[in-house]
Amino acid sequence: MSKGILYDATLCIGCKLCEKGCAERNGLPYDDTIAAEQKQSEHKFTVVLTRNDKFMRRLCMNCQDPSCASVCPVAALRKTALGPVTYDASRCIGCRYCMLACPFSVPKYEWNKPLPLVRKCDMCFDRVASGLQTACAEACPTGATMFGVREDLVSEAKDRLAKNPENYVNHIFGLNEAGGTSVLLLSSVPFEEFGYRTDLSGEALPLLTYRVLSHIPDLVTIGGVALGGLWWLTNRKNEVARAEHGDSDPTLGGRNDYAKS
Ligand code: SF4
Ligand code: SF4
Ligand code: SF4
Repeated sequence: MSKGILYDATLCIGCKLCEKGCAERNGLPYDDTIAAEQKQSEHKFTVVLTRNDKFMRRLCMNCQDPSCASVCPVAALRKTALGPVTYDASRCIGCRYCMLACPFSVPKYEWNKPLPLVRKCDMCFDRVASGLQTACAEACPTGATMFGVREDLVSEAKDRLAKNPENYVNHIFGLNEAGGTSVLLLSSVPFEEFGYRTDLSGEALPLLTYRVLSHIPDLVTIGGVALGGLWWLTNRKNEVARAEHGDSDPTLGGRNDYAKS
């Protein structure tokens, strides 16, 4: 059953323990300076935004039909049946199409590293696959970030809107946006005030992408072959280097090195 996260901003106290839990799970640094940063980055996969006394989380929405995965020519990004959209760094060729395609501007790139990766929240795939909740949900002291089966979370969100309509904007963000997302949001202030797009149709963006790409088959074919070749060359280079180093250089290949909790 597909899992999800329900973030209810009306329950959030802005403690940022979700940020800290995320950093720990992903082996990322976290200190007062990073806590004060009000944006997602390659070293901060989730951020708690503050506007006056209101809060809002940003993280990968782990879309039901993710456009990042649909444009990735080497299937480095994949939607799993459990809900998370995972990233396999060993397949990534660094084309960064995913960054252009994401309607929520989520994927970030390690521009300052010699072997840069795309970085984003993967909804704690390893934890979820082991039957655990996400690290951010586990860290949240108020239940503002809740993990569960997506269908149950949708019911819970509808229930909250029905019982306390005065507390909320009458909208579950992520229920339909971009074809629906595994991350669902409730808020007392309009989502656009925290930078969320309100112009997204309920149609999955990969469908729209396909309709455009289907009109330029030659470009797709040629581009796919070229990128596939580039991917092969990159891997071949690493294989050769590994052989020369007796497979002892940890910087070669095996770049799917998210720290595990
Ligand atoms: S929010 Fe962006 S990066 Fe995350 S799954 Fe959706 S398209 Fe991909
Ligand atoms: S689901 Fe995991 S990776 Fe995503 S923001 Fe929460 S802790 Fe970070
Ligand atoms: S841990 Fe929970 S209450 Fe604290 S900032 Fe994150 S979502 Fe809000």
